Amino acid sequence: MYGALTTVGVARGAAASAATALRPTAAAPVPSRMPVVAGDPGGLTDLPGVRDWVGDCQRCKLAGGRKNIVFGQGNPNAALMFVGEAPGADEDEQGLAFVGRAGQLLTDIIEKGLKIPRADVYIANLLMCRPPGNRNPEPDEILICQPFLEKKIELIRPRVLVGLGKFAGQWLLKTAEPISRMRGRVGDYHGIKVVPTYHPAYLLRTPSAKKEVWEDMKLVRSLLAD
Ligand code: URA
Repeated sequence: MYGALTTVGVARGAAASAATALRPTAAAPVPSRMPVVAGDPGGLTDLPGVRDWVGDCQRCKLAGGRKNIVFGQGNPNAALMFVGEAPGADEDEQGLAFVGRAGQLLTDIIEKGLKIPRADVYIANLLMCRPPGNRNPEPDEILICQPFLEKKIELIRPRVLVGLGKFAGQWLLKTAEPISRMRGRVGDYHGIKVVPTYHPAYLLRTPSAKKEVWEDMKLVRSLLAD
């Protein structure tokens, strides 16, 4: 698979895997000076319902600069779910997660590396709107967007979550560790196994890190085979 990660290309297939629903958890209290976070309206049983809840979201300062909300896409019953950081220019343009250069590399990791059709996994981001100039997500933006990601994960209930890069890894594992220390270990998100790894955009800049991602994907494969 390591060789497969040195090329880029997009191909998609289809299949499905089973999943069960995660019980809703009580909402955490919001500190008084934090921005208002939309509460779960309750009774949401599928992803289209979550998309309706997002609506024409104006809840944070990214709303004014976006072209499209990037909700995430893939198999709603996926055994494997990827969580990235935030949409870039291509994703903002198309309204789809990971469709630019980093997305093509992610497709290769999934299809050539893991040997899973991309359409069989689910791909979402911490943030659904593009930060200006692709800057890092800010804490208030993550706070406001997180109920939606929590609900997606709860409904998809994958067997394995892959956190792509520092922000996704830190959010999933509730840690401040750097990605270099998080990766290579299996973490836990509400009973779901978490494998943090380097973000594909980092791999484009640092191809030597592909060997570590290959190790992480072998871990993913073994967890899915359990
Ligand atoms: N980077 C991300 O983290 N997410 C995308 O959807 C695209 C690039």
